[in-house]
Amino acid sequence: MRLPICLVWLFATPTYGQNASLIFTDEDAKALKTEMLAKADKDVRVFFAENFGRNIENPIALIGTSDPSLLNEHLSKALKEMGRRQRSSPVDAGKLCYEKPIGAAANRSYTVMCWLKPKAYDRRWLASIEQRLPPILAHEFTHQLQYHLANDDPPQRVNGTKELLLGPNWMVEGTAEVFERIYSVQVQGKDAANTAD
Ligand SMILES: [Zn+2]
Repeated sequence: MRLPICLVWLFATPTYGQNASLIFTDEDAKALKTEMLAKADKDVRVFFAENFGRNIENPIALIGTSDPSLLNEHLSKALKEMGRRQRSSPVDAGKLCYEKPIGAAANRSYTVMCWLKPKAYDRRWLASIEQRLPPILAHEFTHQLQYHLANDDPPQRVNGTKELLLGPNWMVEGTAEVFERIYSVQVQGKDAANTAD
């Protein structure tokens, strides 16, 4: 019965979805945070690869922290390591870190995530956050796919303005919302009517 075993092996280990983002996080509880981010990253990549045949092979940095003062520091280090140019202005870390339980933003080459600082980085905290992270990451990965599929790297702007050429914004955001919702419903089994936030 060698053949069925080989077939199972073939289907269980797709050649796509194996890429991983470069993880950047704080020294405090680094192992736990790295493991959490890496798992969410892998789950999201497998979701896009298996369901839509889409993957991104170019390096992407995934930055996660609860500390707004470290967010841009991590991002700057990540861009340097990937040989990408630095941002002309820092990410608004306060907005990202305090307006939602988990704030996130993405560009072609990175995703930054900021969550509210817990009392302790323990398994209880992990249980409370690990289900919420992947759908948000699916949203951000959709943005990276948009740049990737539009061949828009580095991202172009409209004739000397700050407005991104990739658009219109309602379509870019709407599409990402749809994939975030599909992830919640299809992968996590959430009720489609109850995923709005
Ligand atoms: Zn978005």
